[in-house]
Amino acid sequence: MLVAHDKNEKRIYANSINKQGKFYCPCCHSQVRLKNGSIKIPHFSHIRKANCENNESESYLHLKGKNALYKQINELYSSTQLEVYLESIKQRPDIYNYKFIIEYQCSPIKDNTLNKRINGYQKLKIKNLWILGFKYYKRNKIIFSSLKFLKYNVNYGFYLLFFDAQYEVFKMKYHINQDDINYYFIEKSFKNFKEFIFYFNYCDTFIDNKSNIIKTIKIISNELKSKDKYWLNLNDFCYQNHKVLLGVPLACHSFTNVAPILGKYKLEFCILTILIIESYKKVSYKFLYAKIEKSLLDRLFMPMLDLKIILQSILVNFLQCLENANVIIIEKSTITMIKSFEWYEDYFDKLNIYNK
Ligand SMILES: [Zn+2]
Repeated sequence: MLVAHDKNEKRIYANSINKQGKFYCPCCHSQVRLKNGSIKIPHFSHIRKANCENNESESYLHLKGKNALYKQINELYSSTQLEVYLESIKQRPDIYNYKFIIEYQCSPIKDNTLNKRINGYQKLKIKNLWILGFKYYKRNKIIFSSLKFLKYNVNYGFYLLFFDAQYEVFKMKYHINQDDINYYFIEKSFKNFKEFIFYFNYCDTFIDNKSNIIKTIKIISNELKSKDKYWLNLNDFCYQNHKVLLGVPLACHSFTNVAPILGKYKLEFCILTILIIESYKKVSYKFLYAKIEKSLLDRLFMPMLDLKIILQSILVNFLQCLENANVIIIEKSTITMIKSFEWYEDYFDKLNIYNK
């Protein structure tokens, strides 16, 4: 473990101290010892063998990887904590913040232990992301024991995420499928967690996507100049709501990697969602989706797809995006606006934020 308590229950990081003292396990409260060799990553371990959740023996790469993950994630989400003991479910995830839990799984895990952990996190209604150590990774192959960590996403199909603690790179295998004996998938590497979350989580406001915005705005400006009916109507729709089409909030542009069913209506989808949330302040997911479906679904034609399901998942992803940007909170299928959306006067005004 990387974090222990002192006698006042203050959290002590193993890499922040260099001498022995009285330290205690945050889970079972029994005494632990600082291990601070020259080869090993500084960490704590129980003095006596304990029957404790916190007692799995962690390899060098597990400790190194956990430290690296914590550092990278903490840079993006400042409330991130390492090894917090969650009293209500009696579990101690590797990394925790109010948005998600990350488990860095390097060693084998028993099915019932995995089950118990996932049930606990579901009880707390916290999303959990399992990142696998490189023991679970093989180039061009899927290791069977990794499949119990499979997750599904509408844009990426079935996927697994890996972190190589030695070189600090992320790998994602996605669109995983199989035939009789082989697995097929696409693989992509990411330099760091930020790059991964941008690709995967579709959107976050810290992403600098200025060149994409300029491209989008040029195209829409040209459409408006050439009096394209669709874009003129959308422009009017924004005016009626006292907004400017080219001044749409940045969250609309940074919502990327969307399932390709919306076509040119993608921006309209975002605008509509935001305007509904803005006018109601608090709205149920069901109500919001019904409004969007009513306005958009008839215009989409992909007869081989179940468009309703796909549209719903796009909405869920976009809301997630807005929640990540701290403009809304989602609780029990109710969406509450907690901050005003930032609409701009025009696109110069919008691009200015990059010059600040
Ligand atoms: Zn313990």
